[in-house]
Amino acid sequence: MRKPVKQRRSAEDRYRFVERVDARRAEETRKGLSFDYLRGDLHTHTCYSDGFGEVSESVATMSARGLDFLFITDHNTVRQKVECRGHRNVWWGQEPGAGPQHVCILDIERKYRPVGRIGEDAARLRAMGCFFFYPHPTGWFPSTHYAPERIAALGEAGDRFAMEILNGFGRLEPFYDTWTAETEALWDGYLSEGRRVTGLGASDAHGPLAVGNVWTGVVGARLNKRAVLAGLRSGNVFASSGPALHIESGGAPMSGEIRNPGRELRLRLECADARGLNWARVISQGRELRRIELRGAKHCDRTLSLPLPRGARYVRAECAAVDDRRAYANPIYLLPCG
Ligand SMILES: [Zn+2]
Ligand SMILES: [Zn+2]
Repeated sequence: MRKPVKQRRSAEDRYRFVERVDARRAEETRKGLSFDYLRGDLHTHTCYSDGFGEVSESVATMSARGLDFLFITDHNTVRQKVECRGHRNVWWGQEPGAGPQHVCILDIERKYRPVGRIGEDAARLRAMGCFFFYPHPTGWFPSTHYAPERIAALGEAGDRFAMEILNGFGRLEPFYDTWTAETEALWDGYLSEGRRVTGLGASDAHGPLAVGNVWTGVVGARLNKRAVLAGLRSGNVFASSGPALHIESGGAPMSGEIRNPGRELRLRLECADARGLNWARVISQGRELRRIELRGAKHCDRTLSLPLPRGARYVRAECAAVDDRRAYANPIYLLPCG
């Protein structure tokens, strides 16, 4: 007697399934929140550079995962723009190497040729009025860990810049690992010095199935390229691989500032995930100020009174879902008196 052949799901089937679950989860997560946001992937590749998918395949995943917008940021080219124009809310950017770090530029029409020195390129891009950010500032999964000098070179970007906190490269599903932990520590280091560094999330997908495994939530923006870029510039955004997360204090939004904050801060923290939340925490000067155990709750909206460490320059928040998908709220900046 012949044994029955066991049907195994192919990897592709499996991830098509994940996308559908993700889209449902994202839609349910949005319900009942006091803030609204657009979900978009800021950093993806196709066969126009070293990715292996077509633009249309990335767009299919964008729709399947329920993303609102997508940037296709191929390396050293903007030739993909012709195809992007044929799709709604699909925009192009570019990701050249710029010396020790890569840089994602979202809003120039032409190919940018970097000088290769971080400070100089940052100054040129600012002079051109571009929105840009540094992807994977500590390297990328599974094997590229930047040396400390290479990471430190990012400091030349200045007192205000944007970088990825979550990078989804080489993954089909979200994750938390040593790259993310290192990037978090780097972020807290810059913020503790008083720099203003916007944290973003993006997939860095090199194949269509990974598009949108990590994304950025742009709070309160309308769905067009100009409004999304203005939202990204304002920093009223959160990085995520699943949950929605938002903080505000006394009318100051994420990336807003509070002068003379005193010794205690009232902070409203709201987060949600349709799958259930594990915890949320508030951080200042690289230390945890408050941790909230959420035990599978789908929504949390609390106003916290937080004692501020002396000389604190910022507060920020994170949360994790029960499956460890995470979100990072951008900081509220504190300006001590004097
Ligand atoms: Zn890169
Ligand atoms: Zn990339």
